[in-house]
Amino acid sequence: MSLNCDIVKDLVALYHDGVASEASVAEVKAHLKECKSCRNYYKLYRLSAPPTLNYNFTATGNYGELAKHMRVRRLWMLVAALSYVSASICALIMLILRIKRK
Ligand SMILES: [Zn+2]
Repeated sequence: MSLNCDIVKDLVALYHDGVASEASVAEVKAHLKECKSCRNYYKLYRLSAPPTLNYNFTATGNYGELAKHMRVRRLWMLVAALSYVSASICALIMLILRIKRK
């Protein structure tokens, strides 16, 4: 037993959720095989723990898709800004024409 029981009890949550490092998993597994107290703790933990979330820690995020989405959004914001400016210019011209008519 290389890890002490307190450390194993701290790592049990990470081990259970599958987010512990390979080294931690190996150490916790080895400890659980040999230590009855920690094994019982882990059994109780499994019964009381919420269902594990399916974390996806792979770094293969779809950045190309995100960049495309941001480009499209930027384009729409540009179109909206140009529309606002041209509508303001039209309103100003109409106001000037109305003032001149009087
Ligand atoms: Zn132990």
